[in-house]
Amino acid sequence: MKRRDFIKNVVVGTAGLAIASPLLAAGNRKSAGKETHSRKSGIKASAGNWPVAVCTWNLKNAVAKAGEVLKSGGNSLDAVEQGTMVEEADETNMSVGKGGRPDRDGHVTLDACIMNKNGDYGAVAYLQNIVHPISVARKVMEKTPHAILAGAGALQFAKEQGFTEENLLTEASEKAWKEWLQKSEYKPVINIENHDTIGMLAIDKNGDISGACTTSGLSYKMAGRVGDSPIIGSGLFVDNEIGCATATGVGEEVLKIVGSFLIVELMRQGKSPQQACEEAIGRIISRNPKYREVQVGFLALNKNGDVGAYCIHEGYTYSMFRNGEITNTASGFFNKI
Ligand code: ASP
Repeated sequence: MKRRDFIKNVVVGTAGLAIASPLLAAGNRKSAGKETHSRKSGIKASAGNWPVAVCTWNLKNAVAKAGEVLKSGGNSLDAVEQGTMVEEADETNMSVGKGGRPDRDGHVTLDACIMNKNGDYGAVAYLQNIVHPISVARKVMEKTPHAILAGAGALQFAKEQGFTEENLLTEASEKAWKEWLQKSEYKPVINIENHDTIGMLAIDKNGDISGACTTSGLSYKMAGRVGDSPIIGSGLFVDNEIGCATATGVGEEVLKIVGSFLIVELMRQGKSPQQACEEAIGRIISRNPKYREVQVGFLALNKNGDVGAYCIHEGYTYSMFRNGEITNTASGFFNKI
């Protein structure tokens, strides 16, 4: 499909969808459960579709952990924090927390943010030596008058809160970085660069929504670079009346369209999560003639529990916990690699 055609299709609705998710149909079905109405959007909130947790990529362990919290009656904030912590601690995920790929100078620097049902938000940017930046972000939200702490100040705060420092550069990450140094050319490689940033969205048994996003950012980025993940409205946005969205991929592209906020606002205007994700990808494609060189994937959940996902290039998937089941589904995409 040509770029122009895609944009046209996005305007008419879901025609740009390359792979339809069976989950969308499931999410749209009428629920026998209790229904409430969102004041702002008129979206019907169906208790039958909750609790639910979704996250970017094939990160089933993370969504299983969130599911465990939700199943035992826990709230969505605890679910997204504990779910994303699984990836932060997993050294084999080289895009998040411990084991994350470093910047070009060999430093692992982490970005994370969290939002609750009240629209409260906390974030850390350029945090080093702490395995769980998502938990530091939550402390920023709950214990400070601020929304974002960065760099040395974020580390100082984390230590004051009892977090301990450790080296996050694993042998495998160091080896990969040293190999990269031999090439010393900075060029993102689609999907291969392991855009495994985890963005997680959840609705608990009360219908309350929270979200979390955590990453080590683009591999071999410039020192000091901060991406979309810790920035409210870009890597993550939650509106308890409407729904929520999160992003993965090249953060610079997400920042330029304030992607997650855009998706939530499109849902407020009546778009489904799927339509909203497609329209956001359409904006990136229409503005950036070099879109073929970058991957971006969005994931959205509305108040009803309906899910949508869309990306530029084939290869992005999302994982979900619902009705006690864990699934992984291929997202629709614009461009077949
Ligand atoms: N979005 C992240 C960033 O730009 C990276 C990724 O998802 O791979 O920092």
